[in-house]
Amino acid sequence: MHHFAYRSGVLHCEGVSLEAIAAELGTPTYVYSDATLRRHYKVLADAFADVRHLIAYAVKANSNLGVIATLASLGAGADVVSGGEMLRAMKAGVPASRIVFSGVGKSADEIALGLTHGIHQFNVESLPELERISSIAVKMGKRAPIAFRVNPHVDAGGHAHISTGSAEHKFGIAWHEADAAYDAARSLPGIEPVGIAVHIGSQIFRVAPFKEAWTKVANLVRGLRARGFAISRLDFGGGLGVPYKPGDDPDSPAVYAAQAREVLGDLGVELILEPGRLIAGNAGVMMSRVEYVKERDGRTFVILDSGMNDLIRPALYSAHHEVLPVREPAPDAPLAPVDLVGPVCESTDRFAKDRPMPPMKAGDLVAFMTAGAYGATLSSQYNTRPLVAEALVRGDAWAVVRRRPSFEDMIALEGAPDWISGG
Ligand SMILES: *Cc1c(COP(=O)(O)O)cnc(C)c1O
Repeated sequence: MHHFAYRSGVLHCEGVSLEAIAAELGTPTYVYSDATLRRHYKVLADAFADVRHLIAYAVKANSNLGVIATLASLGAGADVVSGGEMLRAMKAGVPASRIVFSGVGKSADEIALGLTHGIHQFNVESLPELERISSIAVKMGKRAPIAFRVNPHVDAGGHAHISTGSAEHKFGIAWHEADAAYDAARSLPGIEPVGIAVHIGSQIFRVAPFKEAWTKVANLVRGLRARGFAISRLDFGGGLGVPYKPGDDPDSPAVYAAQAREVLGDLGVELILEPGRLIAGNAGVMMSRVEYVKERDGRTFVILDSGMNDLIRPALYSAHHEVLPVREPAPDAPLAPVDLVGPVCESTDRFAKDRPMPPMKAGDLVAFMTAGAYGATLSSQYNTRPLVAEALVRGDAWAVVRRRPSFEDMIALEGAPDWISGG
C-alpha cells in the first residue's frame, strides 16, 4: 500500500505531481511519501499494540534526515550500524535511549559515542568486540547494556546477498556458543547483558524462517534465565519483505506479529523490532528522464539520466523495480521490450532487460517504484555524477530534503598534492 497514483494522467505522490517536482529539482530525484511512511509505521505499531515493544527503524534503509524525523515524530527508535547513522538519528529527533547499535565491526570511537549518549543497547557480534566494549565502558565509568546477535543457522530463503543467518555469513555469534558468550559477558566489568538479538536477512516473504530463528532465541532466554541471567529484551531484527512486482505477496505485518506473540508467549520481555525496507520501501520512487532512445542490433536501449550510482539494487542484487512512465500511457498503448540503462560506463548499469514498455522518447519522465529503501542510501558519485536529490511530499506540499550538490560541492574535499605545482 502506497500513495503514488495517476491523477489526470500524471503520476502523483499524494497530491503532488511528479512532473512538478522534476521541473523544479531536476532528475534523477528520489521522492518520498509522508503518508506512506506513517502508514507503514502505524500498521506495524498497531499490530504490536498489546506487546511492550520498541520499533527501532533500520536507518540504513533510508537515512535521510526528513525520513528519520518523520518516523521519530511517531515515536520510532533507530537501529544504526555506524556512528554517522547514530548522529543522524539523534539529529532527526530519536532519543539515544531508543537507539540500538548493530553491526559487525564497531570502532572504538563508535562504541565511545554510543556510551557517551547512553544508547538503549549494543548488539554485539563477537567476543573481541565484547571485550573492547567492556574496556571502553570501564574507562568511562559505565556499563554497556548489550545483547548478543545470535546467528541461528537458519536459511531465510531470500537473495543470497541479503541473507545473513547461516553459518557461512559473518554475522553474529553461533547460537550453540551463546551460553559461553553470556558467561564471558557476565565476567566482564563493563558489560550488562540485557538481551538477545537475531536478524536473518532481508526481503523475506514467509514468516516460517523467522519462527525458526525466533524460537531458538526465545529458548535461549529461558536457558539463560535458568542460569541466573536477567534477560529482559528480545530483538527480532528486521527483514520482512515488500512487494516489488505484481504477484509478490509477502506475509502481512499482522501475520508476522501474530507469530511473534506466539513465540514470545509469557516470556515478558521488551520486544525490539528493526524494520527498514518494510517502512521505507514502498514510500519512495526514483524519477529519471529519458536522454536517448537507441536502436542497435535489434535491441532498443532506453538511455536514462539515472545510473547504477543512483539506484544500485538491480546491478547489485539483480533486483526488479517496476518502471512507470510519469505521463500515463493510453490503455491501448502497444508494449515493446526495451533495455532500460543508465549513462554509467559499466555493463551492469542496466535497470531492466527486455522490459515491456509503451513507446518512449527523449525527455519523457519515468518513475522507478519501490525505491524508498536501499536506494538513495546506496547512491554514490561514481563517474563524478552528483548525488541524487531527494524530496519529501506531505499532502499537497513538498520539500527538498537533500539538494543536489554542485560540482564545487563534489570536489570540495579533494586537492592535488603540493608537489605537483612545486609548492
Ligand atoms: C539491515 C538490517 C535491518 C533491516 O532490514 P530490512 O530488511 O530493511 O528490514 C535490521 N537489522 C539489522 C541488524 C540489519 O543489518
